[in-house]
Amino acid sequence: MAEPLPPTGSRIPGIGLAKGLAVTLRTMTKKTVTAQYPDTQPDLPPRSRGVIGLFEENCTVCMLCARECPDWCIYIDSHKETIPAAAPGGRERSRNVLDRFAIDFSLCMYCGICIEVCPFDALFWSPEFEYAETDIHELTHERDKLREWMWTVPAPPALDPAAEEPKEIAAARKTAEKLAATQATQATQAEPDEPTVSTEPREGES
Ligand code: SF4
Ligand code: SF4
Repeated sequence: MAEPLPPTGSRIPGIGLAKGLAVTLRTMTKKTVTAQYPDTQPDLPPRSRGVIGLFEENCTVCMLCARECPDWCIYIDSHKETIPAAAPGGRERSRNVLDRFAIDFSLCMYCGICIEVCPFDALFWSPEFEYAETDIHELTHERDKLREWMWTVPAPPALDPAAEEPKEIAAARKTAEKLAATQATQATQAEPDEPTVSTEPREGES
């Protein structure tokens, strides 16, 4: 419950002003914490949530990020492309091709849900934060800009040397080894046979 005000007669004249001046004096003598940006760059943690980078090679246009975004500020356009069958008699396949991927950072609340839900590791946090604009419409950034930010994403921490090899790396390594072995075999088979040198004396020679 609010404290009742003292009767008007018992108030000391000028007490409010004195209190205000005391607050001003206290604040003036405190050490300043204002960061003089942009003259001084802030010392941010390397994994700050500055902006979202897109690694578009990994994006399969599954639309999960756009559907889960609570602000509906991810805009994706795509079209379907038919891939011919790999072998005669095989079936044609179709795949989604990304036409547009944009994020409106004037709506984004940096919750990170899109990054969390992306099943193909196509979205990452970048610590880049210097993208202020004077026009709010220019805060919608398209795939080229999102891709540029991708290169400012810090590298993942090194794996524990005792950890089991990740499945995808093991699969890629085995494929590379198999390919190298096939190429080596083909190179050996393609080499011409060594010319045979005859030691028999030719006719007329003694
Ligand atoms: S960080 Fe959150 S609000 Fe911003 S685009 Fe991703 S899901 Fe949407
Ligand atoms: S969730 Fe990932 S793969 Fe799916 S559309 Fe979004 S960025 Fe692309």
